[in-house]
Amino acid sequence: MRSYKYLFGPVPSRRLGVSLGVDLVPFKTCTYNCIYCECGPTKEYTACRKEYIKIGPVLDELDDYLSSKPELDYITFSGGGEPTLNSKIGKVIKFIKEKYPEYKTALLTNGSLLYREDVIEDIKDCDLIIPSVDAVSGNIFKKINNPAKGFSAGRVIEGIKKLRLKSNAEIWIEVFIVPGLNDTKKEIGKIKKRLMAISPGLFPDKIQLNSLDRPGTKEWVKRTPPATMTRIKKELSPLNAEIIGGYKGKKKKESQEKSNLEKRILGLIKRRPCTAQDIADSFGAKKGEVSRNLRKLENCGKIKKLHKERGEFYKSNG
Ligand code: SF4
Repeated sequence: MRSYKYLFGPVPSRRLGVSLGVDLVPFKTCTYNCIYCECGPTKEYTACRKEYIKIGPVLDELDDYLSSKPELDYITFSGGGEPTLNSKIGKVIKFIKEKYPEYKTALLTNGSLLYREDVIEDIKDCDLIIPSVDAVSGNIFKKINNPAKGFSAGRVIEGIKKLRLKSNAEIWIEVFIVPGLNDTKKEIGKIKKRLMAISPGLFPDKIQLNSLDRPGTKEWVKRTPPATMTRIKKELSPLNAEIIGGYKGKKKKESQEKSNLEKRILGLIKRRPCTAQDIADSFGAKKGEVSRNLRKLENCGKIKKLHKERGEFYKSNG
């Protein structure tokens, strides 16, 4: 199998099933610098939209990958930065919709640019859009998301309101819970009130409560205890909230495809730290084969091992 530069996975996603990732910005190009970011600190901190990655090669990779009709639940715009920063995202979505209408598209966004009409116009035809709302109080928003100058929690809510009016996409809201910051009854109550006001009784389609699963940017950020997640879910009622758990979808069939495994592993962990099991599930590869490649990459200094609660994670050194 060919190794790709802009496509990654398919990743067995905890919330989207089997998801093929499409990365449209250089690693850690973002409007935020979240303390929980699994990709590490933001390198290019920006609010400027442009064609960071030329879409021609992205469309070529999509053509190459999708022409074999792989089984996917979603093609997801995500990766190591904020996808809506790429000013040509609309063209990529249109390409998939027109040429591969059998596939559903999803967008994971921090929501910071949704206040812009051009962004809404570009993304409105996605099937599923998941903006983040980690806090609505300015001080907590700043502590968690570290936004670039000019962004505010209020602006994110305004953007989501516009999105709801102009797009027929399913909209789920992601709330990433950071213990000690946004896990209080007060902040959760405020988030609930602001979301309920967007379209009473009809919004959002779902809230996904997330918490640290992989090593984050700041060492002190810890996983939220299950009892706290359950309490928050109850506090958000009657909104339809769910706690994101482990991957429960079908496992990928074991593949005989071993070519470029090392490159494909590197491509995946460059975007987020993974355990050997995550990688094996992702590629339908044998865990032993994955471990052998990981050892090789570790020995030549391309990756490093981190010992965390959920096991040993591998992270890119690049
Ligand atoms: S978590 Fe998302 S929004 Fe936050 S810094 Fe990382 S890529 Fe940007």
